[in-house]
Amino acid sequence: MTKADELQQVYRDLETEAPTLPLATQASDMVPGEGSPDARIMFIGEAPGYFESVQHRPFVGKSGQLFRKVLKEEAGFDEQTVFISNIVKARPPDNRDPLPSEIEAYKPFLNREIEIIQPDLIATLGRFSMAKFLPDVKVSQVHGRLHKIKWHDRILYVLPMYHPAAALRAPQVKLSFIEDLKKLPAILTWIDDQREVSQLQQSITEALF
Ligand code: URA
Repeated sequence: MTKADELQQVYRDLETEAPTLPLATQASDMVPGEGSPDARIMFIGEAPGYFESVQHRPFVGKSGQLFRKVLKEEAGFDEQTVFISNIVKARPPDNRDPLPSEIEAYKPFLNREIEIIQPDLIATLGRFSMAKFLPDVKVSQVHGRLHKIKWHDRILYVLPMYHPAAALRAPQVKLSFIEDLKKLPAILTWIDDQREVSQLQQSITEALF
C-alpha cells in the first residue's frame, strides 16, 4: 500500500465511524487532511470552521487563506508539497474550542496521519495542536522556536506557531506569524544537516568497531 492509499484508508475509517464520533453525525461532516503524503512539513491546526465543513478541506476560510498565501508568497512553499490537517476533523458548534474529550476521540486518526506521513517537521497552528506535543507552554512564549521531542518512540521536530486566526486579529501577531513561516526553509536545511552529521557519526562508529 502506498502512503496515499494508507491515508485514504484513514479517511474511509473516519467517515465510517462518523456516527460514533463527537461533533459529527454523518460521513459528510468530516474534513480530512490534505496535501502531499510525502510532505516534509505537516501543519496541524485546531478544527474545521464553516467554510472547511462545506468544502471538506482544511484551512480554506479567511484564516486559511491568509495561511496559504503567506506559506506561498513569504515562505516559498507550494501548498501541494506540504500536508495540512487538524486536531479534530469535524466542526465544533459556533466554532467553539474543541473539548478535551473531542480531541481525544479524534487522536487516533491524527496519530495515524503522522505515522503514515512521517514528516521531518510538524508545525503546530495555535495552542490546541501545540499542546499535543508541548504541554504547559504558551504560544506567545515559544512560537518560532524549534523543539526536538520524543513522541511514540520517535524523535520529532516541532515548530509551534500562532494560529492564523490570531494573526488576523492582531497586526503584531501577524508579523510574528509571517516571520515564523519564513523560517521553514532554513529549518529544513538544518534538519538535513543534523541527519547528515548523525549518519556520519554512525559510520565512524561502524568503522571503529
Ligand atoms: N482553523 C483551523 O484550525 N483549522 C481549519 O481547518 C480552519 C480554521
